[in-house]
Amino acid sequence: MNSENKIYDVVIGGQGAAAFAAGMYAARYQMSAIVVGTTFGGETATGGLIENYPGYPDIDGFELMMKFKEHAEKYDVPVIDDKLVISNANGNSRKESDIFEIAGESDQIYRGRSVILAIGRERRSLWLDHEEDWTGRGVSYCSTCDAPMHKGNTVAVVGGGDSAVKGSVLISKYADKVYLIYRKSELTRPEAANLRQLDSATNVERIFNTNVVELLGDDQKGLTGIKLDNPYQTLESLDVDGLFIEIGADPRKELPMHLGAKVNELGEVIVDKYMNTNIPGLIAAGDLTDASGDLKQTITAAAQGSMAATTAYEHVSNL
Ligand SMILES: Cc1cc2nc3c(=O)[nH]c(=O)nc-3n(C[C@H](O)[C@H](O)[C@H](O)COP(=O)(O)OP(=O)(O)OC[C@H]3O[C@@H](n4cnc5c(N)ncnc54)[C@H](O)[C@@H]3O)c2cc1C
Repeated sequence: MNSENKIYDVVIGGQGAAAFAAGMYAARYQMSAIVVGTTFGGETATGGLIENYPGYPDIDGFELMMKFKEHAEKYDVPVIDDKLVISNANGNSRKESDIFEIAGESDQIYRGRSVILAIGRERRSLWLDHEEDWTGRGVSYCSTCDAPMHKGNTVAVVGGGDSAVKGSVLISKYADKVYLIYRKSELTRPEAANLRQLDSATNVERIFNTNVVELLGDDQKGLTGIKLDNPYQTLESLDVDGLFIEIGADPRKELPMHLGAKVNELGEVIVDKYMNTNIPGLIAAGDLTDASGDLKQTITAAAQGSMAATTAYEHVSNL
């Protein structure tokens, strides 16, 4: 299918819970829909064990997202691997009359009577020297992906939210020792169930009021240690085989802002209760938006995806 020539009822950006749910609902409204996203499954697919998605007391996030994708594909919604960008060789992302033209990194232009953006958030970086070079060589942003590589190792995790706590618990099953390093004096944000699991992980040492200020190692070996701004048991640096950076995420606001969407002080796309942005026909869902405050979860993203499709349907029906 040549998506350049076709005008879809809805172009859906993302390949996470919100995007697949939107695709599935759009198809059930008999809309022509296309799902265009980069990494399959989004944060849920790499989020490890999901224990709070109704109907599945414990399911691997990747498996849950496979079910989402298969459900959308059952209704013949095409799922394309591509990144939506501000511009490509064939033009800019824009709204022209009632039609949106959205550029893909592949140089495709995806055309739609409405657009649902469900492109989530970007993990934050510590912005330390060597952080980028040593990613994959000791430095990681995904405990689910890389924890199994640390059998018998000593590993540090930076952060104080749910991701850091869940990550520490998972890594503790492989590593001999895990340091959980947090800049504040206590863990107040994680879910109680995750904190209970952390309490049971006897090989996790918590280091509070401390920041990682330098990555130690060399270009041959990659990361071998970390320097702290506050000595831990007299040690100014710790020898570690791995460092997991789990310090939160920022909404991918550039494309929505380019299309005219307003964002709040956190960079979240502002939507009304129907997932409308301030631009008619430009709809947003999931972690990208301000819709569910701090409760950014698979279930809220999926629910918002379904609402976004309903809103797209109403928008297209009234054109
Ligand atoms: C470590 C961790 C553990 C978690 N554990 C749980 C849990 O146990 N239970 C729970 O309910 N929630 C959990 N969450 C939260 C949950 O994963 C998110 O709330 C959910 O994934 C949000 O879905 P989304 O579709 O809005 O965004 P995402 O899942 O982030 O999906 C965004 C999609 O957009 C794609 N994308 C990005 N940029 C572009 C672009 N320019 N063009 C096209 N596509 C793009 C991405 O590749 C991705 O496919 C966890 C999150 C993390 C990080």
